[in-house]
Amino acid sequence: MGRADLHTHTTASDGAAEPADLVRMAYENRLELLSITDHDTIDGYLEAREEAATLPIQLIPGIELTTLWQGRELHLLGYGFDPADSAFMKLLVSQRRARKDRIGVITHRLQKLGLDVDPDEVFAVAGRSMPGRPHVARVLTKKGYTGSVHEAFVRYLGNEVMGSLDLFWVHLEAASEAVRGAGGVVVIAHPGRTCTYEEVEEMCNDRIDGIECIHPSHGYDHQLRYTRMAERWGLLVSGGSDFHGSGTHEAGSRFGTVTVESGRAERILQRCSSVPE
Ligand code: AMP
Ligand code: MN
Ligand code: MN
Ligand code: MN
Repeated sequence: MGRADLHTHTTASDGAAEPADLVRMAYENRLELLSITDHDTIDGYLEAREEAATLPIQLIPGIELTTLWQGRELHLLGYGFDPADSAFMKLLVSQRRARKDRIGVITHRLQKLGLDVDPDEVFAVAGRSMPGRPHVARVLTKKGYTGSVHEAFVRYLGNEVMGSLDLFWVHLEAASEAVRGAGGVVVIAHPGRTCTYEEVEEMCNDRIDGIECIHPSHGYDHQLRYTRMAERWGLLVSGGSDFHGSGTHEAGSRFGTVTVESGRAERILQRCSSVPE
């Protein structure tokens, strides 16, 4: 039985691997299908297509959207959309704007705590990448305020310390509409990390097509329970490594070990109306 990884990050967001290198790694790890799901951008996917065309591996259009659900941040995976769909492209523009503005709010808060951090320093570190908290963490570490990126999250940037910053994101319903409107499907990302079973149940109405059952943060219990839930409700079963690069934070530091069966990925593709050959 072949395997697929449907949750990975590249240098287009906060991952360490270049898009083309990730495709090659997937091939070397004998994966049959791969999806690059960068935070709020498809630049890495678009760049990786060239490499994927030269190898016997199927690259599925993917994204991990930061959305708002009932006042809090929730990650939504989108697959198999048409990257040129105009409403979808509009969503990407507004998410990029949101991420940029959010860096301004974060640095402002840090300044109030007496830390000398400027938004432009963060954008310089992010370069072409979609800016996020990991880039702020790198600046804090470079300037000696923290000893590591992880420490920056624990002391300054984690959801618990940072408080709510969530007025920036698209609502889950609108995100789902945009991905589906572009011919794709939407999957709740790593619910075990962010939701209770009851909340997932509440979310899984007609706006959601699947659940990410396999994720490095899910123990066997979560995997089993979410897979059963998805099968009971006729939802797609997704999964992947959430790879960000070797030696990065806890989840997603190993590639090729957390995968789903290819059959699961193919079923996702069958539900999409816009899939490249
Ligand atoms: P953002 O996308 O700006 O909300 O930043 C969240 C990202 O930060 C996640 O996708 C992870 O890649 C990364 N992250 C979250 N927690 C930690 C941590 N404790 N240490 C290092 N990176 C983290
Ligand atoms: Mn990340
Ligand atoms: Mn996530
Ligand atoms: Mn992710």
